[in-house]
Amino acid sequence: MKTYQIAALPGDGIGPECMDATCIVLDRLQSETPGLQFAITSHRAGAELYRESGVTLPDPVVAACVDADAVLLSAIGLPDVRFPDGTEVQPTMMVGLRRALDVHSAVRPVKLYPGAPGVLKDNGPGIDFVVIRENLEGLFASFGGGAKVGREVATDTMVITRGGTSRVTDFAFRLAQRRSGRPSDGKKMVTCVDKANVFRSMAFFREVFMDVAESYPDIASDAVYVDAMSLYMVQNPWDFDVLVMENQFGDILSDLGAGLVGGLGLGPSGEIGEDHALFQPSHGTAPQIAGKNVANPMATILSAAMMLDWLGDRHQDPVCSDAAVRLEDAVARVLANGHIRTPDIRGTASTTDVAHAIADAIAAPA
Ligand code: ATP
Ligand code: MG
Repeated sequence: MKTYQIAALPGDGIGPECMDATCIVLDRLQSETPGLQFAITSHRAGAELYRESGVTLPDPVVAACVDADAVLLSAIGLPDVRFPDGTEVQPTMMVGLRRALDVHSAVRPVKLYPGAPGVLKDNGPGIDFVVIRENLEGLFASFGGGAKVGREVATDTMVITRGGTSRVTDFAFRLAQRRSGRPSDGKKMVTCVDKANVFRSMAFFREVFMDVAESYPDIASDAVYVDAMSLYMVQNPWDFDVLVMENQFGDILSDLGAGLVGGLGLGPSGEIGEDHALFQPSHGTAPQIAGKNVANPMATILSAAMMLDWLGDRHQDPVCSDAAVRLEDAVARVLANGHIRTPDIRGTASTTDVAHAIADAIAAPA
């Protein structure tokens, strides 16, 4: 039996509370699942550490993340902790970690669970699609390189490469193969989201997407402009299965997706490469509510479920894959039950209450 080595980065603000809650749940999952074993090692990184030591992400922590089977990160950064040039520490740290792990595809499921406070009056046949964001280039390639700031003009540079675009597109099609298709009719489909009518870089993104699509004749493909997609995500989200896009567009549309299905407290994410993967909630450190035991830990717990799913797939380990399903199902049952939920989703329970409710749901038969 393999013991999965998990590097845990609790981070700042509500990060440690959400990570503690996740560890309560993972402990129970492990004790309830014969053949499932992980060793979770916690590491300090982020804004508080920077405040104390002048370092955000120590080299040994990067090395531990590279050595681990997977990385689980809660939330990093605090608005008042900044580098001497005034910039927040979080983007630099995250870009550094992403580049070290070479995690090229960010995956954010947008799934409406029964009982979650979605915002649409009518959810049609349901909402269950995935936003895939190219995670290493696009407009974010400008960070630490391609930006120029003058007195009158500032520019950033968008970088789209054939290699980066085909990696993320290929990832999208492979994910579509594993999914059950769009809610409206079960059709498996990958949609390229771009602005190919205006930007040369985006036309190139679409061209590479179309090339890759030819290798997947079993999956439908199409392309939609990003402005239209923002409309469709709200008007007919059930017509989409997997969306793939450039970094900055993915940053924006994945928050729109989180809003659609109940807010940041319910949005997990994974950042995946060929050899490494990093899982974290899509929310930030929410400093206003930190330390009060009221943060919603579900996004971090669902991120841990994505991590188990990825480990199970990568290591061809059905025990781990089944545990991922069981964990997600336990979260879904607590949400559907409605009694134990945190204030962000209109409840009065604490972070710890939610963790124990999910742990108990794992143990209780469905
Ligand atoms: P970042 O820049 O790190 O993305 P942000 O400014 O987008 O951070 P978040 O920290 O994600 O902001 O939070 C925005 C607001 O959403 C918070 O003030 C908080 O009210 C709410 N929020 C976010 N995450 C949670 C959570 N897990 N539980 C409860 N409320 C949350
Ligand atoms: Mg944010």
